[in-house]
Amino acid sequence: MLGNIKVVLVGTSHSGNIGSAARAMKVMGLSQMVLVDPQCEVDSQAVALAAGASEIALNAQVFATMEEAVKDCGLVVGTSARSRTLDWPMLEPRECGVKLVEQGESTPVAMVFGRERTGLTNEELQLCHYHVCIPANPEYSSLNLAMAVQTLSYEARMAFLEKERSQFPAEEVVEYPRHDDLERFFSHLEKVLTETDFIDPAQPGKVMNKLRRLYTRARPESQELNILRGMLTATEKSMKQKK
Ligand code: SAH
Repeated sequence: MLGNIKVVLVGTSHSGNIGSAARAMKVMGLSQMVLVDPQCEVDSQAVALAAGASEIALNAQVFATMEEAVKDCGLVVGTSARSRTLDWPMLEPRECGVKLVEQGESTPVAMVFGRERTGLTNEELQLCHYHVCIPANPEYSSLNLAMAVQTLSYEARMAFLEKERSQFPAEEVVEYPRHDDLERFFSHLEKVLTETDFIDPAQPGKVMNKLRRLYTRARPESQELNILRGMLTATEKSMKQKK
């Protein structure tokens, strides 16, 4: 369960933070570190700060973009020091732990952390199902990267322990689509809406952005996404026949 939780660090520039994040993960039982476009090496500083957890940093997977890093994930949670940067579904850290552990039973899941100075971009935040903000001192709300990893990994561990303790059988697990399946749906939707002249090809951005937000909020299950894809395919087919 915890093994399915990926900690994704985007654009990290201090190797010490990678080491400290590895340590923070290992003490909470997490092991999957992913680096996106790192701005530093996993060097001796990282190894020193990782203490006994350096293997997590040294074995981290590396990707050029966040999109590639989360494409196999059924749940992607983005973290931000600023609450409600975008109007996006939010989770409390506690709920975040519970969701990660529940969904982590059936698919890989990701917690995504941003750059030390600038956090995650809006584009990166829009690739997430939910955002989570640690409700810190409003006048000084930005935690050190590794400490944010620590806090949210702790919540995942608490949820995991709670689940282990509870004697009730697990609820039926709902299957959610992978990130790349959802992206294929958005491309298909844009194509059909353009072909039906609903979207003006000169200005596709705004409508697609709103629809992306709508479908992200609704969080369709795998079966529901298949229905949506089927509707689009049927529309395309009937347009072709009428031509
Ligand atoms: N100025 C940046 C701060 C980046 S801190 C910003 O406004 O986003 C580096 C990273 O640590 C953030 O991208 C986030 O992943 C994490 N982080 C720091 N403080 C946090 C908080 N209060 N809640 C959630 N994540 C936080």
